[in-house]
Amino acid sequence: MNLIFLGSPGAGKGSLAEKAVKELNLAHISTGSIFRSAIAEGSPLGQKVQAIISAGKLVDDETTIDLVRERLSQEDAKKGYILDGFPRTIFQAENMKAFSRVDKVIDLEIPDSLVLERLANRMVCRKCGHNFHMIRNKPKQDGICDLCGGEVFHREDDEETAIKQRLEVYRARTAPLIEYYRKKGMLAVVDASPTIDKVMENFMAVIGR
Ligand code: ADP
Ligand code: ZN
Repeated sequence: MNLIFLGSPGAGKGSLAEKAVKELNLAHISTGSIFRSAIAEGSPLGQKVQAIISAGKLVDDETTIDLVRERLSQEDAKKGYILDGFPRTIFQAENMKAFSRVDKVIDLEIPDSLVLERLANRMVCRKCGHNFHMIRNKPKQDGICDLCGGEVFHREDDEETAIKQRLEVYRARTAPLIEYYRKKGMLAVVDASPTIDKVMENFMAVIGR
């Protein structure tokens, strides 16, 4: 099963994908995490995208499409995948058709008021990408990931100016994908405002599990 997760920043695509891939034995492919790892390594890709990402803008389509095409050609993606953060533009969606077949698109719906609160309080593990919330879901030990012991940090693009920029970019460039996939009969909507366990339950229901 090949799935795409759509939804605004802070909808919880990453957290749900982390749970869902375990349950369904799929590969979790997050373009944001791949870019953040590249930045942490200081690789040529990381150097190229660092300023763009911290400003809350989109990496160019060509770079992103090449990256996903390569990632999907790896062995573990053959068992099926959840794409979290791709496609983010109609152009990316159109190009993707040449190298992969998608079964279903899950749109995680959430009001903007919740988004701001979630992102402003979000902390992310540098090593495994697990998300924490500074108030509701703190790491047991300050600054250290419960799952892997990695360093937990506040993303630069989770500062207010970058959050606003990302929401604007989402509305202008990514939200049109909802209609795009709805017209193709591929879309399923999941309410992303309740707790992660409840969202997981609703997600499993819409994919028929
Ligand atoms: P979120 O969903 O919380 O906004 P992600 O971790 O998915 O964050 O992405 C972080 C950043 O990585 C984006 O703001 C963007 O700069 C870049 N990025 C991720 N995926 C894409 C994509 N498909 N196309 C262009 N840029 C992307
Ligand atoms: Zn971790």
